[in-house]
Amino acid sequence: MAILDGRKVSGEMLERLSHDVKRMQLSHLQPKLAVILVGDNPASLSYIKQKKKACEKTGVAWEQIDYSTAVTTDELVAKIHELNKDIKTHGILVQLPLPDHIFTPDVFKAIDPKKDVDGFTAYNLGKMFLSKSFEDLAPCTPMGVIRMFEYYDIDVKGKEAVIVGHSNIVGKPLAAMLLNRDATVTICHVHTEDLAAHTKRADIVCVAVGKANLITEDMVKVGAIVVDIGFNRLDNGKMVGDADFKGLEKKVNWITPVPGGCGPMTVSCLIENTVRAAMRIHNFK
Ligand code: NAP
Repeated sequence: MAILDGRKVSGEMLERLSHDVKRMQLSHLQPKLAVILVGDNPASLSYIKQKKKACEKTGVAWEQIDYSTAVTTDELVAKIHELNKDIKTHGILVQLPLPDHIFTPDVFKAIDPKKDVDGFTAYNLGKMFLSKSFEDLAPCTPMGVIRMFEYYDIDVKGKEAVIVGHSNIVGKPLAAMLLNRDATVTICHVHTEDLAAHTKRADIVCVAVGKANLITEDMVKVGAIVVDIGFNRLDNGKMVGDADFKGLEKKVNWITPVPGGCGPMTVSCLIENTVRAAMRIHNFK
């Protein structure tokens, strides 16, 4: 068994990106990420902290705009329109989840696709669904999985990939990205009748549900690759994924740890998108 070490791969990505930022700074340009946070959800605060740290590490400027949970959809949309026009802002990120009274699709629709570094606008999602060569500002978590496969030379072509979880931000875009690379893809979700029947025949199992120990050793075949995207805090405060790492590690060929797997990769892909957006906006090569 070998580890898909997200911390290491992400660290190397950030190092490379910091060189791109330095090159831009020589031309008096600096990529900037604006982050909108609504409320003080502890998980959101922790995600934001990681993103800010990565900006500081690479030299990407950071602006955090905090709102109370009383904010309205119109107020968020107005702020996004302002950021769209701001020539110093290259990336706009709205930290999820938003309170229930906010209409999230309207918020994402307001983001200029050129600054959509989370890759959640219909324009960028649509491009990603067309083909690999059209993937551009693509969703960071699934792109992080792809970058990890690239780093470890794991070719998904022809492989049976089973994705558990069909959210718009992880499961669905990951399915499209794996399909773009010629994997045979199945997506499972809460209504899938026999989850184990699918995962057992998979060469690659990617799980993004938010349920500790959902994927156990008896649910995968020998030599499988397990990518654990889930993130769960246990009652004792420990962070775990959706897969039973201890049970699986003896059986699989590759596995991502949690923490230290997909989380850091998501962050480095966000910085990659921000630097790419800034270069594009300034026509910087
Ligand atoms: P989400 O929108 O809640 O989606 C969860 C998905 O899992 C849904 O498709 C749901 O199906 C499915 N599901 C629920 N129970 C299931 C079960 N027992 N068996 C099979 N499928 C089941 O969540 P998300 O935003 O995609 O996030 C999923 C997990 O990934 C969370 O733990 C989150 O914290 C983590 N995450 C990590 C990162 C990272 O950077 N590492 C980034 C994003 C998310 P239905 O919709 O049909 O109920």
